[in-house]
Amino acid sequence: MPEQTDDRISIIMGDITIQHVDAIANAANPTLLGGGGVDGAIHRAAGPGLLEECRTLGGCRTGEAKITKGYNLPARFVIHTVGPVWRKGGKDEDVLLAACYRNSLTLAELSGVKTIAFPAISTGAYGFPYERAANIAVWTVREFISTHPSMERVVFVCHGEKAYRIYCETFEKDWADHPETLLAEAIAAHLLMIETSHNIRIRNREEIVRRIAPAVKNSIQALSFGISLNTWVAVSRMTGDMTVPDKVLLQIVEQMNKT
Ligand code: ADP
Repeated sequence: MPEQTDDRISIIMGDITIQHVDAIANAANPTLLGGGGVDGAIHRAAGPGLLEECRTLGGCRTGEAKITKGYNLPARFVIHTVGPVWRKGGKDEDVLLAACYRNSLTLAELSGVKTIAFPAISTGAYGFPYERAANIAVWTVREFISTHPSMERVVFVCHGEKAYRIYCETFEKDWADHPETLLAEAIAAHLLMIETSHNIRIRNREEIVRRIAPAVKNSIQALSFGISLNTWVAVSRMTGDMTVPDKVLLQIVEQMNKT
């Protein structure tokens, strides 16, 4: 089996259901009650106990993740995440796909998982363009593990040779210089997470992304922006629909430039 590795990321061609890792991610649908593709393969290999546990979970929203045991799989856990259906890029698909990887990794880490395998979420029945999805997957995982040393290994399991080639090419890109669009995605993902965790809606979300992305030089600065804004939202006890004032944004950018 071909394999490409750095010290914490592996890209392999194969079947996710036979991976010996602490957890495998499942590209599930919102009901969590089983489907085709990788979901079907995981349920077949895990046995009926998996579906039984999934029935108790009350489904899962797009971009979010839920955990179950792995039953007859070699993996101890399955992290079920629901990828976005591709709708020509106009429905926050990039941000939601990044959220799938980030939320799966966060949940995995909270459950003590140190090694995890991912399929190419959303690239089958949900129709996400493969290369674009691979970029988001690799970049989001790289960003996450760079700030989470407890995650020892992430394996991308590619179903087929073409998929494997695309992941390898993505992996070899120079990640020191993130293209601005990916930084914009990172900022949008941080905003989405802030909205979800504080149960708010940021009215000027798109404007913030447009204004902040050119000021951000790398993923550390994007993260620093997310942390500062999250702190501001928490301290000012914002609720419901809200707008982040200009002067707050300016202060955060100023602070970010010092990092
Ligand atoms: P989605 O509905 O999120 O698009 P799919 O299951 O249709 O999910 O496809 C997601 C990806 O999983 C596709 O790239 C598909 O080729 C791949 N895939 C299907 N079966 C397996 C498997 N057993 N192991 C790893 N990847 C798989």
